[in-house]
Amino acid sequence: MNYISTRNNNLRMSAAQAIVKGLAPDGGLMTPCVIPTLPSSALHSLADMNYQQRVLYIIGRFLTGFSTVELNQYINAAYAKEKFSHPDVAPIHRIDECTHCLELWHGPTCAFKDMALQMLPHLLSASLEKTLEKRTACILTATSGDTGKAALEGFKDVNKTCILVFYPKNGVSDIQELQMITQEGENVDVCAVEGNFDDAQTGVKKLFADKELEERLTQRGYLLSSANSINWGRVLPQIVYYVSAYCDLIKQGTISAGDMVNFCVPTGNFGNILAAYYAKQMGVPIQRLICASNSNNVLTEFIETGVYDRNRKFHNTISPSMDILISSNLERLIFEISNHDDAMVRGCMNSLGETGRYEVTPFVKNQIQKVFSAGCCTDEQTKETIGTVWKEHGYLIDPHTAVAFHVLQQYRDHTGDMTPSVVVSTASPFKFCAAVLDALGISELKHGTDILDQLAQVTGEEVPTPLACLKKKERRFHTVTEKEHMMDQVLNMLR
Ligand SMILES: *Cc1c(COP(=O)(O)O)cnc(C)c1O
Repeated sequence: MNYISTRNNNLRMSAAQAIVKGLAPDGGLMTPCVIPTLPSSALHSLADMNYQQRVLYIIGRFLTGFSTVELNQYINAAYAKEKFSHPDVAPIHRIDECTHCLELWHGPTCAFKDMALQMLPHLLSASLEKTLEKRTACILTATSGDTGKAALEGFKDVNKTCILVFYPKNGVSDIQELQMITQEGENVDVCAVEGNFDDAQTGVKKLFADKELEERLTQRGYLLSSANSINWGRVLPQIVYYVSAYCDLIKQGTISAGDMVNFCVPTGNFGNILAAYYAKQMGVPIQRLICASNSNNVLTEFIETGVYDRNRKFHNTISPSMDILISSNLERLIFEISNHDDAMVRGCMNSLGETGRYEVTPFVKNQIQKVFSAGCCTDEQTKETIGTVWKEHGYLIDPHTAVAFHVLQQYRDHTGDMTPSVVVSTASPFKFCAAVLDALGISELKHGTDILDQLAQVTGEEVPTPLACLKKKERRFHTVTEKEHMMDQVLNMLR
């Protein structure tokens, strides 16, 4: 299987090279040359498998050059019982006759990024070996909260890797900070930065661009790497749960093999919903993909008009993991849907860089609209939805998931399409206690980890173990740095 750049069809790499590089040298995203299709009997066979077996079946088709034995080893480490509290890993919860919820938050950090970030480190470690890279990969990340913790858990004690996470001192919640500073593992480091998320992010970008630092780290046997959501090694594990969800619906007798379903996905960087599109390409009978955004509705506008325009106000919402103005993975969709028109993609991305805006051709817009619908939702509507879903179905959801529930309802009201639909649930409500309690009408909120117990008390739901354990954990990391001194932290860690 070859991988090509979305900006140049002739730029080819193996799967291992694509995973090590992350990004093509021309700035494009490495993408499979051909999407493998499932034989018609596959959905039946997959329905009888457990999650780990399904992972092997799907990702094996994209990762030629990786043996079954080694993939099994990574899969068993990534989706082990000790990591995912639910035996099905990504279970389906029935809401009503035609609405189901795919829970992607049973992993070690209680959010969907675990689904990919548990797997990527193993793929990266193996890819380093396959490409004869002798250096250890050092992952540098700036985080506004969730990604950093999920990356720490994923890379913890994985061979040939280490990770350093910078977070804004006053830009994450008490629980998020506690999750990071209590991180276990021999190859991890965490550092607070004076300032906001932008300061931390800009600082990390500077480190990546610093040639002298690169040289010094090479001498010490290290290679900087980012493991961000455009790495193919992060998109690939996400395809699996869409196939898996479909199989579970067959197994439960909710649908018969071949029946159409819709997925509604809360989206930021377009990574999660892109994986759903690949699942459709592989042959999963998906009718529509509904792209759900919060007030940062740049994708809603794009899908409706074909114009992508990041020149707009940025909103801080109660679904912060979707507060994004540049949805990087959209580039892969445009590439796929235009039948690999690399020149067109290059044009769009140049225009995005220069003016913050691009417009796709009417053909591409129509192709997108054949598959995708889109909608957006305010914070008020998000809270209202958390309240209604709790009252009517006794089901507690987080704000990101609520955005998707709301947008699915909009879509149904607008189209009358009652095809069985799966709402993708991306975080445990206990990760966003304050917003959830507020939505349930509670105004006096507890602080620190007490807010976990408060949400448990109000709802009778159980605090997920990884969060409940936080109180007892040792605080291992205490460093706070000025943004000008972030490089010293790197050099300190990689002695
Ligand atoms: C990252 C994240 C999202 C958005 O996922 P994308 O792949 O960026 O579309 C949605 N919900 C939660 C909880 C997240 O952490």
